[in-house]
Amino acid sequence: NRRIVLASRPHGEPTPAHFRMEEGRMPSPRDGEILLRTRWLSLDPYMRGRMSAAKSYAEPVAIGAVMVGEVVAEVASSNNPDFAVGDLVTAFSGWQDYALSSGRGLRRVDPHLAPPTTALGILGMPGMTAYTGLLTIGDPKPGETVVVAAAAGPVGSLVGQIAKLKGARAVGVAGGPEKCAFLRQALGFDAAIDHRSDDLADALAAACPDGIDVYFENVGGAVFDAVLPLLNNFARVPVCGLVSGYNATELPPGPDRSPMLMRAILTRRLRLKGFIVSDFADQARDFARDVGGWLREGRVRYREDIVEGLEQAPEAFIGLLKGHNFGKLIIHVA
Ligand code: NDP
Repeated sequence: NRRIVLASRPHGEPTPAHFRMEEGRMPSPRDGEILLRTRWLSLDPYMRGRMSAAKSYAEPVAIGAVMVGEVVAEVASSNNPDFAVGDLVTAFSGWQDYALSSGRGLRRVDPHLAPPTTALGILGMPGMTAYTGLLTIGDPKPGETVVVAAAAGPVGSLVGQIAKLKGARAVGVAGGPEKCAFLRQALGFDAAIDHRSDDLADALAAACPDGIDVYFENVGGAVFDAVLPLLNNFARVPVCGLVSGYNATELPPGPDRSPMLMRAILTRRLRLKGFIVSDFADQARDFARDVGGWLREGRVRYREDIVEGLEQAPEAFIGLLKGHNFGKLIIHVA
């Protein structure tokens, strides 16, 4: 039974040395418990925050503890009448081969409805993030322009596609020509901008001739700087993630631009609102019905980046923060 623990806290970019693979004994379920065998492990940007001791919305992983993460697992043995051997569930059991569970908090995965990995992506936490943040805070109207960055990832790709379903224009920002072509050709975005190109601000302005009504913020940094001058009066900005800064060790060099930002918020009556997907837990049914339906009808699509082997998780996670993934990053464990 292998498990990957947090060996030390990174300052800046994590390296493989911040993780440690350990071999442990095989756990055996007591009365009422089940043994879960991890099939797929989801890797997500929030895990960088859990590696840090800085105060956040969730507790950090302790040094020496198993790295957190959601998995799709198979019930390997069961002393709980509610679960049979072979059942598939999602669990927050982390970066390891096997884990025990009381059954509480597990979500059943029906492999006949959709491929099981979608429970970690478009039909799971990232999909729910896109759906709730865009529709509740962004509230796109027909004809409006919606911009989203990290647009080839599981959150951004669904944000753009839902924007289209609601009659808005979708403009994606992503790293590199391949991801941009995918957004336009496979997902039907109206325009896609490469954030690594020299003329990001000009290219974004050209792609948004009527300004920006909704900016779904996944990234921060240079992308936000390019977006801010284009935000229309009464624009909405769901603040979902700031991945460009997750490895930052200090504030960017001055001048301090917060007065400029506050002035834009005031004069253009912008609405910026941070959220964590769990704030919208009461929308889980609506999400499953709508996005599940759109997926079955072929009206939304998704892309996965599946990496083979638990031992690859640290390298794959380090790459996620730099855009090396192309689609929802998942480790195939067994
Ligand atoms: P992705 O699979 O999209 O991975 C992150 C992507 O961010 C990378 O692939 C990379 O794509 C992009 N990126 C990294 N650095 C930069 C940069 N400097 N400038 C521009 N883009 C960059 O991840 P998710 O879809 O899972 O998550 C997207 C965002 O949503 C993250 O910020 C995450 O923290 C947040 N999130 C928030 C939740 C909440 O409850 N608030 C829940 C889930 C996710 P590229 O190659 O295009 O640069």
